Amino acid sequence: MKMYPCVCLDLDGTMYRGTDVVPFAAEFVRSLQSQGIQPFFITNNASKTPTQLVEKLHSFGIKTDEEHVVSSALATAYYVKTRYPNQQVFAIGGEGVQHALQAAHVSIVKENSDVVVMGLDRELNYDKLAQGCLEVARHREFVVTNGDKKFPTEVGMYPGNGALAKVIEHATGVEPTIIGKPFGYMLEMIQAMHDFAKEDMVIVGDNYDTDILAGIHFGIDTVHVNTGVSSTVEVQEKDLKPTYLLENLREWTLELSH
Ligand SMILES: [Mg+2]
Repeated sequence: MKMYPCVCLDLDGTMYRGTDVVPFAAEFVRSLQSQGIQPFFITNNASKTPTQLVEKLHSFGIKTDEEHVVSSALATAYYVKTRYPNQQVFAIGGEGVQHALQAAHVSIVKENSDVVVMGLDRELNYDKLAQGCLEVARHREFVVTNGDKKFPTEVGMYPGNGALAKVIEHATGVEPTIIGKPFGYMLEMIQAMHDFAKEDMVIVGDNYDTDILAGIHFGIDTVHVNTGVSSTVEVQEKDLKPTYLLENLREWTLELSH
């Protein structure tokens, strides 16, 4: 495998699973860091702030800083700031979304917006959805952090932002721009902020339909790890295959140490 100056690592299923660290994930990150490579951690989860994501990684023995974690909320704020400069935003979303928009100095309004942003909001109610519909119907600019239909919890699957955003999509007939994986906006943000060439970038993940397709859509190399959602057998049957298929990150760690 070649050396990539920009390694983008998925979190859930690649670095940790629930409350457990994925075997060899922390060792892999340490071995990259010992080669002078600070990897980026990317997640569709829009509910956490960069500080919370850094703390979560630290709790698994993975050291990083706020500049190297990219959530779909941060990429959404970056997208809105660059594609809709000086525009007013009506935002639905929890702490991760609010924090990302504020940090990007985006102006947030309760009505008469120019663009609507939506991320997972555990306090979502009818009034917020209704106002979101009115805003989207007027200007037809609708950006969502991620299209995940559901996510796992201890008691089963909960509705994700993708399922909730469908309410506004159906009511207005406006299809949203989706920032999270399988789309490449988080990778685009990393590339733009750090000036990487695409051939120097790689995305590593367990989920073919999000991680691997995001890399393929964006045009960078991809590494599938068999530690989460998609099995190696499933991935081998796809027409568009990842650049590399690994059983786990130990295989790559060993190569780095030689
Ligand atoms: Mg994953």
